[in-house]
This record gives sequence, C-alpha cells and structure tokens, in this order.
Amino acid sequence: MWPYHPDLLRRPVPRYTSYPTAAEFRPVGEDHVLENAVAAIPEGAEISLYLHIPYCNTICHYCACNTGRANRQKRLQAYIDALLAEIRIMGELLTSKHVVKRIAFGGGSPNAISTQEFAHLIAALKDSFHVDRAEISVELDPRDFDGEWAAMLGQSGVTHASMGVQTFSAEVQQVIGRVQPYETIASAMSQLRAHGVQSINFDMMYGLPGQTGQDLSDSLDKTIELRPERIALFGYAHLPQRIARQRRMDTSIMANQLQRFAMSSLGYQTLVRAGYEAIGFDHFALPDDPMAVAARAGEVSRNFQGYTHDPSPWLLGMGATAISLFPDRILQNEKNVGAWRNAVSTGRLTASLGVHRTSRDEAHRQIIEDILCRGEAEIGGLDGAETYAERLASFEQRGLIERDDGHITCTDSATPYLRTIAAIFDPYRHNSKGGFSSAI
Ligand code: SF4
Repeated sequence: MWPYHPDLLRRPVPRYTSYPTAAEFRPVGEDHVLENAVAAIPEGAEISLYLHIPYCNTICHYCACNTGRANRQKRLQAYIDALLAEIRIMGELLTSKHVVKRIAFGGGSPNAISTQEFAHLIAALKDSFHVDRAEISVELDPRDFDGEWAAMLGQSGVTHASMGVQTFSAEVQQVIGRVQPYETIASAMSQLRAHGVQSINFDMMYGLPGQTGQDLSDSLDKTIELRPERIALFGYAHLPQRIARQRRMDTSIMANQLQRFAMSSLGYQTLVRAGYEAIGFDHFALPDDPMAVAARAGEVSRNFQGYTHDPSPWLLGMGATAISLFPDRILQNEKNVGAWRNAVSTGRLTASLGVHRTSRDEAHRQIIEDILCRGEAEIGGLDGAETYAERLASFEQRGLIERDDGHITCTDSATPYLRTIAAIFDPYRHNSKGGFSSAI
C-alpha cells in the first residue's frame, strides 16, 4: 500500500477538471460573450465539440450528475430540437474556418435517447461543421444498450465508448440502484467491438455504500478479464446533504478514509500488475491506447471529462449545463433545461456562467495541470516562493515530493496526494473551503 498520511488528506480538494474551477464561475455579464468567443476562433483551428444529454432511463441512487428521467417523450423531443437548433447556431458562427477533430457525447446517458434522435444529431453535426475525420466518443449506460444501438454507433463512425460499470458486485449494485449483471457488460462490449468501436472505457468506483475491499478486487478481476482499453477508477463522493437521491442508500457499510485509501491503492496496484499504465491519479490505459501513448509523451491534460489527450484549446459545449473552453475563458450554458431551451429559441448562444482566465490564472493552471498529468512542475516563476516552500514542506519531509531549484517532482508514493499537492498552487483555495470531495 502507498504510505498513508491522513493529515495530508483531511482537506477536501477540487478534481481540477478546469482551472479556475467551477467554484470560481460567476454570472456572465456581457452580451454575446459566447458568440464573440466562438466567432474569434482563428482560421484553420482544430476544435472539439461536446454534446450534453442530461437524461437517463433509470436514475442511480449514488449519481451526482445533473440528470433527469427520460420517461417523457415530449420533454425529450423538445430537448433534442433545442440541441439541433444550437448545433445550427454554433455552426453558422464558425463559418468555414475550422476542422472538428473530436466529438464527445456525454450526460446523463446519451443512449437514453432513441437511435433515430442520435442519427439526427450526427446528421446535423455533419451539416453544420467540418467533421469528416472527427473521432467520435459516446458515454453509454449498458442497461439500455442493445444491437440497434451498437449498429447505430458503428454506422455513425463512433470509435470510442465509455460505459458506467462501477462495480460487478450484485449486492452493491442493489444498494446503489444500478443492477447490471456481468453478462450485460460483456454483451455490450462484444457488440461494440463487432461494430467497430475498438476503444472502450469502464468507469469503476471504490468506496461505494456496501462495498468491501474484496468486492473491489473481484470487480477489478472481472474488468481485467474483459480487457477494456481504458479504466477510470473514481472514489465515490457521499454528499447526502446536497444530493437527496443518495439518502436512499443503506450506508451501514461505508468505508472510512483509511479503507478508501487502501481500496484506491489496491485498485492502482491491481491494474498496473495487469498491464495497464497509470495516468495521473485515477485513469489507466493499455500501453498501445492513444491515451497511454500521449501520457508517455507528456501530452495529456485535464478537461471536464477528466484526463484527455485532446490537445485543442477550443472545446465547444452544446446542451444545458455544457461547458465551452477557450484559451482565455470558460463559459457554461444555463443549467436549467427550460431556461436553456428558452435561450436557444431566441436564436442566440447564451452562456450564463463563466470565468475569464488572467495571465496569473494561466501560470497557476499550467502548474496544477503539470502536477496532475506529469507529476512535476516548474514553480520558480511564481511570486511568493517562500510561502510555497513552507506549504510543500510536509510533503517534502515525507518523501512525496523532491524540490530542486524551482522544480518539483512528485515521487511514486505521491499519487494519492496529487490533488492535495496541486491545491497548494490554487490561490482561490487558500481562503475558501468550497464544496469539494475527499482527496481519496
Ligand atoms: S446512468 Fe450515470 S448519469 Fe445516469 S443516473 Fe446513473 S450514474 Fe447518473
């Protein structure tokens, strides 16, 4: 097991899927701010698109996502119509000066919509953007996956899929409200592979209510047997005060911090022993997967989907809650679906929240990303070097980092502490608690 230092894990810290984090987003005051940012994308830019589908057929008790039941066809249809309209508006603003390299469908569960609706979205993207050689990825709920969906993904040119698996334990699946037998996952995998989806990710979890170290070990053994190209192993965040649906779970068996730490360590060792390469603090990929190749070249970064090998500084988000990234700003669409639909119906792109990244923010963003993605960073250019040295002292004394002339290197034992080390370089966290999750 990694060396355990509970005092260094006490403070909840962000996952840093953006910097500044969403806690720093403020209402966007300027008119046309998103439209202006899209229109300013330079000629020939290689961009990425993200489409958000905030619906699921069955809502899992542990889920912290902003998602609703896909049980009302009229409501779903109205959402898809608004998304089609937003695709058109975004495409008109970009005119002909771009190439789309990546398209990601996330949620919720994109396969909560019908295959016909998915086909309409793909057709609209082809009409509005230059997407001919784009890599397309889709998040999937295996409970709603079937041969019709596999065929649609193959026909649409989807090459990467991510499935919410979380655990193979039947007992834990009952507790968390996500019952999906091993056969369901295995069948979804073979159907995906048969239709040309060759890169598959499993989202797995530790620290779920009712889950023991043995459950996790068994689930990882089954995962290794199925051999997805990528695995993300997340710690479950129990926040029942904020997420009412989590109160429905029996939490009489809940791992404490030491047990969570042991589970995280067990997951890391098991996957690495099985031939996966570790990427940052919670991702793993087989050595010839593009994510592992990019990680070895020092080319992974963080975005709203976690670790990514997407190098584009322009990620345009569509749908309620979707976030768009630009080199100097982050803008988020209205979270409330009704308000987002109303905004789109005016024929305008309207961000409701966002943050403008200053040059100081950019310096801190680079350090935080370097620590989380590459395990090292140049910190010599920051003001207040002595303050940072003091804050790093307890990590240095325990052999978690080494400092050398303005450069820090995280040692192998530092993996579970990477978020905490990164947070030292986040000035917004120095005086605020925020609503973040446990570092492990
Ligand atoms: S399928 Fe995923 S997004 Fe939907 S409720 Fe379950 S965990 Fe949440």
